Amino acid sequence: MKVLLATRNDAKLAELRRLTAAQGIEGLEILGLDDVPEFPEAPEVGATFEENALAKARDAAAATGLVAVADDSGLAVDALNGMPGVLSARWSGRGPIGSGAGSRVERDARNLALVLDQTADVPEERRGAAFVCAAAAAHPDGREVVVVERWAGSLIRLPRGTNGFGYDPAFVPEGESRTSAEMAPEEKDAVSHRAQALRALIPRLSELA
Ligand code: IMP
Repeated sequence: MKVLLATRNDAKLAELRRLTAAQGIEGLEILGLDDVPEFPEAPEVGATFEENALAKARDAAAATGLVAVADDSGLAVDALNGMPGVLSARWSGRGPIGSGAGSRVERDARNLALVLDQTADVPEERRGAAFVCAAAAAHPDGREVVVVERWAGSLIRLPRGTNGFGYDPAFVPEGESRTSAEMAPEEKDAVSHRAQALRALIPRLSELA
């Protein structure tokens, strides 16, 4: 069965291929958006990670006629009532009018600085946070499945580490003393919210075969 992962991120494609191989799932050919004719990609407007992941998977399945998989993720901070949540990628806004959105690295740095500023007065015992990922699969005939997984931890005050992206330099997973930006990429891949969600979704893909 051909499965389209609705992403242009080569790292996510490679991760899904590794995970399907590790689960011994055979007969899945995993394609990326660069392997199919271009189609319009709608903006993410859902109120939840599940809604966004499902919308992306649904659009990709309808446009290509393939079973499509999509994910949506972000950081949920306890002291911010679960925010930035689905707004994680744009939490600090798009930048001053006319300046353009800036590079992903600049935006990630602004987002991280803002969350740390907003939580500056939050004491240690209330600095809980989790990375959350929803992974969805949609069949062009309308059948769909979605799963959501959390990677729990807490926020430190001074960012550490240069691996990963986004909020990784301030996130210390439960049971760790390092931030997720100090973990090796393979270590993070083995336990992250995204890996957990994709791992949970893979066996359910057979429901859509
Ligand atoms: P997306 O689901 O790849 O669009 O990610 C949404 C946003 O959530 C990113 O821009 C990051 O700000 C944040 N995020 C999601 N996953 C991670 C992660 O593994 N590390 C750090 N930040 C993340």
